[in-house]
Amino acid sequence: MPAEAHVNPRVYPAAIVRYSLGVRYTKRSASIRPLAAILLAAAVAGAPACRKAPPPLAAGLDLPGMDTSVAPGDDFNAYANGGWIKATPIPADKPSYGIFEVLADETRKLTLALIQEAAQAGSAAGGDTRKIADFYASFMDEAGIESKGIGPLKPQFDTISAIADRHDLARVLGGQFRADVDPLNDTNFETLNLLGVWVTQGLTDPSHSFPYLLQGGLGMPDRDYYLSATPHMAGLRNEYRAHIAATFKLAGFEDPDARAARVFALETKMAAVHATRVESEDVHGVVSWKRDELAAKAPGLDWAALLEAAGLKDVPVFMIWHPKAVPGLSALAASEPLDAWKDWLRFHAVERAANFLPKPFVDERFNFYGKALSGIPELRPRWQRGVDYTNQALGEAVGRLYVQRCFPPQTKAKVQAMVGDLVKAFGKRIDALTWMSPETKAKAKQKLETLKVGVGYPDRWLDYAGLEIVKGDALGNAQRAGLFEYRRQLAKLHQPVNRDEWWMTPQTVNAVNLPLQNALNFPAAILQAPYFDANADAAHNYGSMGAIIGHEISHSFDDQGSQFDAAGRLANWWTKQDFDHFKAAGEALAAQFDAYRPFPDLAVNGHQTLSENIADVAGLLAAYDAYRLSLGAKPDVVKDNLSGDQRFFISFAQSWRSRIRDAALRTDIATDGHAPEQYRADTVRNLDAWYDAFSVQPSQKLYLAPNGRVRVW
Ligand SMILES: [Zn+2]
Repeated sequence: MPAEAHVNPRVYPAAIVRYSLGVRYTKRSASIRPLAAILLAAAVAGAPACRKAPPPLAAGLDLPGMDTSVAPGDDFNAYANGGWIKATPIPADKPSYGIFEVLADETRKLTLALIQEAAQAGSAAGGDTRKIADFYASFMDEAGIESKGIGPLKPQFDTISAIADRHDLARVLGGQFRADVDPLNDTNFETLNLLGVWVTQGLTDPSHSFPYLLQGGLGMPDRDYYLSATPHMAGLRNEYRAHIAATFKLAGFEDPDARAARVFALETKMAAVHATRVESEDVHGVVSWKRDELAAKAPGLDWAALLEAAGLKDVPVFMIWHPKAVPGLSALAASEPLDAWKDWLRFHAVERAANFLPKPFVDERFNFYGKALSGIPELRPRWQRGVDYTNQALGEAVGRLYVQRCFPPQTKAKVQAMVGDLVKAFGKRIDALTWMSPETKAKAKQKLETLKVGVGYPDRWLDYAGLEIVKGDALGNAQRAGLFEYRRQLAKLHQPVNRDEWWMTPQTVNAVNLPLQNALNFPAAILQAPYFDANADAAHNYGSMGAIIGHEISHSFDDQGSQFDAAGRLANWWTKQDFDHFKAAGEALAAQFDAYRPFPDLAVNGHQTLSENIADVAGLLAAYDAYRLSLGAKPDVVKDNLSGDQRFFISFAQSWRSRIRDAALRTDIATDGHAPEQYRADTVRNLDAWYDAFSVQPSQKLYLAPNGRVRVW
């Protein structure tokens, strides 16, 4: 969803897939057989995209991309991907590179072609295609943006300067709220606003929607960036302070250093009351407070003024995701000097708008978020950012064009059949579990049977009639789109809960599990080669796309999914004994990942990444079963001297093919719920069939004794 056309603060656009749209599945990366110059040519020439073009990447195994000098049992990722890793540089404008990025780039090129067609079509004012064309053209009009300078922010600066007391402060803070976080579907916890808002059904009341309030306010990704004593973090803090000062200077404010010091000090106090990333993932920490309780439980903020400005004054009950941080932040609203708050508001106003302002602002922002934080040497071309922002602002309008062109009904039908296989395989795994009690099994089966799997695109498209797009007003368009989306989300508070709601656009290369809806979304753009291709053999499709589908299904039954029943209600549907067994199995997997050390001073956090790692194991197991089922009585076929099982596992590892810059890897390890790709590829070490397929011996590095292999499902 275009949750934050308003501009996602710290997400430098190159990283958009990783943090912003990135979801529970996210961050797939892998093989690249460079694509279709044809495609780009077609896109640039404005020729119809997709239908006439070949798939961006060939399906099937990439044999030259392997490194068969490495023993699969010692380093499976290097065996499957070593040739590609050696041969592939990370492009200068990217933090990392792999299949995921390649497909995202290709999809972006196709989307550009669709936007250009929309512009040429000359459609009527007020229509979706016209809005798409005008939004993009306004962003691309650099001369127009340069000529306006910082002018478009003047009204915001005036509003901030006019803040005379805490009542005014609360009003301004509340007026900035947007639907910009999503802690469950998207594990997106970051907002530049004091609090983030998410609207969806209640944790224990699936028949009504509620606003969820999350901690916010930090310019850096997480509290650790402010509080950790490591030299790496200390260095980033210095760069961040310099970035704040440089931003003030560019925007024409006096005493930039003093202002930067105030902003940084205030954010450091916010960080001190923030929950940790691991705490944020604990859905049991969420509480519900009645509107009248807010002032007593979180004193400091003028809640009445804040809620009125945020469009939330009539809401009777709030879900508080961070019940310690919200009072902490509220107290700061009373205790910290108004001048510090005003500087913080000014700085964040510029940060939110920076990518729609003149080049010096874009560059300054990139220097910190792109270079310092993610190690990306170069800013992406403007057209790519323009496509991404258009996707954020008018996501389903663009998605509708994308689906018409790029997602034929036959593909949808084939993927739906594959989903059916995976669901069947998962059901059989549940039946066969020896440790799970019959009661829990019955509930698991019920949940599986009522799972809603969205393939390609939503059944009903969003209506953008209420969104005004003005040609030549790049920043205003983005701001109106952010507000439009926020109001659309707030409107859900007065509507029946919609279990068919989509949370990703069709042109997103990703997939997502929606625990509260007991549903999955597989957008059209991930359902393309090499993840899925009707012409590739079953070993490939099941090892690659099958494992993705299995991954998402298993989220419905993992440490998070086990807490949501078939109706999406937060209710533990497991017996205690079953849950204890599951937890113990999870601990073994957490320990397995804790032992991975990409840097001498930094290990993967096995608990922070546990849900995703369990999903990888379970998804691979289910995909393997479904693959064997799909063969039926047919014998295994050897191709390229590789058995079907070998090709299945290599396809899986190749779907994780990726390279990443050190700085970006460190950021991911600190903040991401997913383990680095190289270790995800090694998930294979938990499957008995992998040992058989590659004759893995106890002396080899990835070998796990049979009782050390984690079989959660
Ligand atoms: Zn996931």
